[in-house]
Order: sequence, then C-alpha cells, then structure tokens
Amino acid sequence: MDIKEVERLLKTSGFFTKLFLPKHIILIDEPVTENFSHQIINYAGLQPKWRKDIIIITSLGNSETVFHEWAHTLGLGEFGANLIGKVMSRFKGRRASMPKLLDFDFTYREAPSPNPKLKHYVLEIRGGE
Ligand SMILES: [Zn+2]
Repeated sequence: MDIKEVERLLKTSGFFTKLFLPKHIILIDEPVTENFSHQIINYAGLQPKWRKDIIIITSLGNSETVFHEWAHTLGLGEFGANLIGKVMSRFKGRRASMPKLLDFDFTYREAPSPNPKLKHYVLEIRGGE
C-alpha cells in the first residue's frame, strides 16, 4: 500500500473533517512482528495510544487496516475499530457515487525519515479556511 492509496481511501470516505485526519502516516515496507507469549503476532497496522495523530501501516496492511487504525485515532477500542475498518473499506473505489462533502483538499507530503524502510508523511491541507 502506498501513500496515494491511503490518501484516496481517506478522501473517498466522504465525511472526514480536517480535525479527524491523521497528521502523520508512517508506511513500513515490511511486516512488523512481535513475539508475544510464544506467539508470533503480525501487525498490519499500529496506532500508538500516546500519539493519537499517527497511524502506522505495514506491508501487510490493506484498506481495512487504514480505517481500523484511523478509528483508533478517534479513541475507539478494538471492537469499534474492527467494525469501522470492515464497513468503511467496503466503500473504497465508490468515489463517483459519493457526494463531495469536503470543502478542502489534502495531501500527505513525504518528510525525512531515519530509515529507508520507513516512510513518514505529514498532512497538508489546502483551502476551506
Ligand atoms: Zn486495533
């Protein structure tokens, strides 16, 4: 998943406001795994609880992951995030049938990153002041 796809997903969702958009998106070009009680857990995405303005999508991430992690930034727990991820990812690609509700445009601009496998993007909003 690349940043253009993440951007497209966030835009096609229709009802985002500026305040609800993640300020930072980190894309990691490999799976992120953790050895948890002798069980390997593969993360498709992550959302640090202490930084509600960041979503992290790994190489295992898909459209559902984007909406799932986004839901966490709004303070939803796993149950809510799973639901939002499933429901909203169904709307991907239906852009033409979505009314244009945004009075602004946005893009994610690449920012310097300490690691070539980790890409950091920062939200940039245009218009709608
Ligand atoms: Zn989650």
